[in-house]
Amino acid sequence: MSLEREVELEYRPRMEESLQNKVGAVADSLRGQTPVCPRCSQPMKRHDTETVSWTARFGRFHAPVDRYRCAACKEERRPLLDHLGVEPGRISGSLARLLAVLAVVAPYEMAAQLAWLLLSVKISPMSVWNVVQRLGESVARYNEGLSQYHADSRSEGASTQEAPRAVVLSVDGSMLGMQVRQQRRRRTGCEPLPPLPALQEGHFHEVKTGVLLLPAERVETSPGRHSVVRRFVVSCLGNADDIFRHLYAQLRELGWVGPDTVVVIVGDGAGWIWNRATMFVRRCEILDFWHALEHAWVFARLNFGEGSQRADRWVHQIAEDLRAGKVPDVIERLRRMRPRTPELREKLQALIAYYTEHAGRMRYDEYIRLGYGIGSGAVESAHKQVLHARLRQAGMRWSEAGARRLLALRLLLLNDNWALLDRLPMVSLA
Ligand SMILES: [Zn+2]
Repeated sequence: MSLEREVELEYRPRMEESLQNKVGAVADSLRGQTPVCPRCSQPMKRHDTETVSWTARFGRFHAPVDRYRCAACKEERRPLLDHLGVEPGRISGSLARLLAVLAVVAPYEMAAQLAWLLLSVKISPMSVWNVVQRLGESVARYNEGLSQYHADSRSEGASTQEAPRAVVLSVDGSMLGMQVRQQRRRRTGCEPLPPLPALQEGHFHEVKTGVLLLPAERVETSPGRHSVVRRFVVSCLGNADDIFRHLYAQLRELGWVGPDTVVVIVGDGAGWIWNRATMFVRRCEILDFWHALEHAWVFARLNFGEGSQRADRWVHQIAEDLRAGKVPDVIERLRRMRPRTPELREKLQALIAYYTEHAGRMRYDEYIRLGYGIGSGAVESAHKQVLHARLRQAGMRWSEAGARRLLALRLLLLNDNWALLDRLPMVSLA
């Protein structure tokens, strides 16, 4: 342990020195080129050289930077900083991306602690937060651009020559606690900050998530347990149209939807899913099997008593029949029941109506035979990974932008697409 740490301590200053040399070499190569004014296109004059510092992976960094000016237009340029993509006093692009990794897996305070333990970088939770806002906004804008691009019928997606026979798309919503305050408190003069208004209960926003996977890639890891080789998660803090736009764009990017591909859509009973599913001409709609059973349970508990064996047996039989594709038989049996109370009769009617409405989405025998699966387990576990594990910890409340940006980054990691971040600029947020 001590030896390894000694080496680290020994080499840290050397890495800083080496970086310093590389920056120096870039500065030298730029010195011969005089920048032109962006407004009048005249060559700018070198005004002065000032020392600029920023925080890099190996410590606080200082470099002399030439400043050029156009007196007529009052324009100013620092070619070295433009070239390096560095902002004075800020965090370097490389360190920013490392901090963002920490922040997508741990709360901001803990991410700052981890930065110290893992990278020997002293940083405030606020600085980590700031980095996430800028990089997250960049990813969110990229995703939005991609979705808009593919919404245009002339867009070019990946080749669909290898498009699969079927692709499964499961969709669901989950709630996220939001901040009630719309604006940050501002200090005016030397007056103390106004007190925070109490948080209202029940102020939530729905995060919609969709998971894309290929049924052909689903493997049985142990009896009854399936896992997929690849899956792509798409999440957004927007409305139903947004999530379907993003899902469609992702399908196009992957080349997963060709002219003969059947898009299998798995969802609970929520209307917003089925209303949008119609955008896919060749589709197969599946009502999540466990949601279908849960409705039977609600009635069984009331009718036969909570935890009773009869309720157990009754639901078990329905499960077996539904799995065998006998929805009409199940509905027929329900119709013949004569419940004792008006309340029970009403609940039974609701169950019959639910099964009748979704009968076309409950041909479970066929879905099993075709390998489509019958449940939305994939999207439910995705919700836990995307949302619960980072954004739904005790007492967490989010601003709309804060949640949107962190989600965008977290999805990069979960989709094993973190490298994309290297190709995106860090957005400036005023
Ligand atoms: Zn000028």
